[in-house]
Amino acid sequence: MNVLKPGSTIGIIGGGQLGRMLAVAAAQLGYRCHIYAPERDSVAAEVSAHFTCAPYEDRASLERFAAAIDVATYEFENLPVAALAPLSALVPVHPGFASLETAQDRLAEKRFMGDLGVRTAPWHAVSDQASLEQAVAEIGMPAILKTRFFGYDGKGQVRLKTDADVATAWDAIGAQPAVLEGFVDFEAEFSIVMCRAADGECVFWDAATNVHREGILATSTVPPAGIVAAQADEARAIARKAGDALGHVGVLTLEFFAAADGPVFNEMAPRVHNSGHWTIEGALTSQFENHIRAVCGLPLGDTALVGRRVTMDNLVGAEAEGWQAILSDPTAHLHLYGKDEIRAGRKMGHVTRLEI
Ligand code: AMP
Repeated sequence: MNVLKPGSTIGIIGGGQLGRMLAVAAAQLGYRCHIYAPERDSVAAEVSAHFTCAPYEDRASLERFAAAIDVATYEFENLPVAALAPLSALVPVHPGFASLETAQDRLAEKRFMGDLGVRTAPWHAVSDQASLEQAVAEIGMPAILKTRFFGYDGKGQVRLKTDADVATAWDAIGAQPAVLEGFVDFEAEFSIVMCRAADGECVFWDAATNVHREGILATSTVPPAGIVAAQADEARAIARKAGDALGHVGVLTLEFFAAADGPVFNEMAPRVHNSGHWTIEGALTSQFENHIRAVCGLPLGDTALVGRRVTMDNLVGAEAEGWQAILSDPTAHLHLYGKDEIRAGRKMGHVTRLEI
């Protein structure tokens, strides 16, 4: 892979906070960023040199974007791959669209992991009410019905405990292609954030122990302890296997349930991840910087933990209004994403605390 020199322009598809933090890391290394997103109010564009605000399906705008950048990456996985595919003939795209296609479809993701011999929750594809009933008969309850596409932060999911739930679940998720998953009895949830270079080198940050509230990540803590520490090596090996199979370049995140008898794969993201935000201050090199390094063909930086313990708390919805109180703690690192409107369930920022 060619080394992309500082001063070059990195195209980032998607305009949210992940793109914003990528652009900040890129700026530190002397790169310029060009954001491509359909929404006018892009918090990534605010910190980037260039912004194309156009639909993903706008071929002419995509071609102009490709001509203006030296490499493309993405910060969001709910993207129309077919519309974006022509981009890869015009400019290098890292990670490649194989990673995106696999990660954006829960069914493809589960088949991919199954082929690699990785354990997931028991699952069954659902395409209508009849196949849902068949899936429930096979898997049993409790179970979770999840849409195949466009799920995030617990959206597009319903839990099934009773026959009454089975009767309403298909409509509740909007009658769209889905997967029924058996409920995993887990002791903890954790994620592996890995960065893979084009030559296959993989670096890992400490496994983060994650707590979710209402389907949204609330807190990530490192280093791992107990069952998460015990399962981290096996989970890292799974991440490496997945990254190799995809030829992935950049950050790849895998989420796991720590069950009593080993890690159970939940889902993956072909990108920097909320559970890796602690790495900005808590690791020698952040997930954002290493992603930029990987897509530009630069050597990867050391991922070692800084200090004894790091906690990242998300600021969701009105929690961001507590920014002054957070700043009164001189050891707290506050990140606000610059979103104008506070909405319930919207990720507005995060705060990282290090114990040295
Ligand atoms: P997801 O969007 O798949 O990450 O699901 C959001 C959250 O729902 C997860 O972080 C878990 O807390 C919970 N969850 C999802 N799938 C399962 C499952 N199969 N068994 C138990 N809990 C689950």
